[in-house]
Amino acid sequence: MKTPIQREARCLCGQLRVTVAGDPAVSLVCNCKNCQRRSGTPFGAITYFSDPQVVDISGTSHTYQFEVSNGNQNTLYFCPSCGATVMMKPQIFAGMTGIGMGCFSDPEFPEPTMSVWNRSKYRWVQHPDHWHHMAQQSPS
Ligand SMILES: [Zn+2]
Ligand SMILES: [Zn+2]
Repeated sequence: MKTPIQREARCLCGQLRVTVAGDPAVSLVCNCKNCQRRSGTPFGAITYFSDPQVVDISGTSHTYQFEVSNGNQNTLYFCPSCGATVMMKPQIFAGMTGIGMGCFSDPEFPEPTMSVWNRSKYRWVQHPDHWHHMAQQSPS
């Protein structure tokens, strides 16, 4: 059996690292106000791996939990040294671990397939036409 590709995501200082096996189950760009503020950028690119795909987590993380608009909770896991958010666990994606796509720093990383929360998208941002586009969040 072919061994699935392994990729490592890490924070800016390299203290917090996550290794995942295989391609993400879900990969999206989120234009919600929470992603804008947590990332400091107009949108967040997030990859979701099923928990068994997460083969290793090293380093320490601090967490920040907050409520999103539908009442669900989301928990961010960020590096206490450099502050970069590496992982997130939104309630809506139970059983999956979200990892910031940028933490892989890999231009060859598989392309997202959808954009969500386009309602609050910065007007100059244009996502590719062949993606699936949603005004809000995907139905749970
Ligand atoms: Zn760090
Ligand atoms: Zn978001």
